[in-house]
Amino acid sequence: MSLRLLVIEDEPEIADFLIRGLREEGYVIEHAADGASGWHMLKSGPWDLVLLDWWLPGEEGVSILARYRQSGGDSPVLFLTARDAISDRVRGLDAGADDYLTKPFSFEELLARVRALVRRRQSNRSLVLTHGDLELDLVSGRAKRAGQTLDLTAKEHALLALFLRHPDQVLSRTRIYEQVWDDRYDGLSNTLEVHVMELRRKLETSGPRVIQTIRGRGYLLANSEVQP
Ligand code: CA
Repeated sequence: MSLRLLVIEDEPEIADFLIRGLREEGYVIEHAADGASGWHMLKSGPWDLVLLDWWLPGEEGVSILARYRQSGGDSPVLFLTARDAISDRVRGLDAGADDYLTKPFSFEELLARVRALVRRRQSNRSLVLTHGDLELDLVSGRAKRAGQTLDLTAKEHALLALFLRHPDQVLSRTRIYEQVWDDRYDGLSNTLEVHVMELRRKLETSGPRVIQTIRGRGYLLANSEVQP
């Protein structure tokens, strides 16, 4: 399963270098280039890791991070900055950063820090997602409903994982498309609908409907113990 990283960096060359390099390593990357969009995307997490620049147009990175932690956000954050005074490092760590990298840095060092932070996060996080009678083991990839094993494709697996991470929340087609297909949703293709229908069909072999269509808004994984 792909790991999702958010890069909040305004300098185009550094952003391009990071995005290109990390994508080559297999990470799924989203990018924000200023404080306001950075904050908005940060809140839409969780992220497996956030790379956050200190100086951004709008709000500075350190204050975005402090606000994010105060609001309960727990995605790991790696600070990227040219500031190297000890007082700045302390300020960054106090604001809730998990690690700190001073520009200029080598891509090798960045990758090593990214791997370490992602690993730490994964060992802290439950690797089995459950909701009602649904169960998805992210390590083995095994999905079950009411104890019955489901035979899912990679996309159905990714869709189910997304629903299980956000139960009882309406997920828009745009959001689902961007997260599962890592692409912009053009609103034209019915790829998403076809995959949701197929996932639903498989889930409904062992129980009532759990993925509901919310007209004009998207889909919702409802409590699977509720009878239709
Ligand atoms: Ca900057």
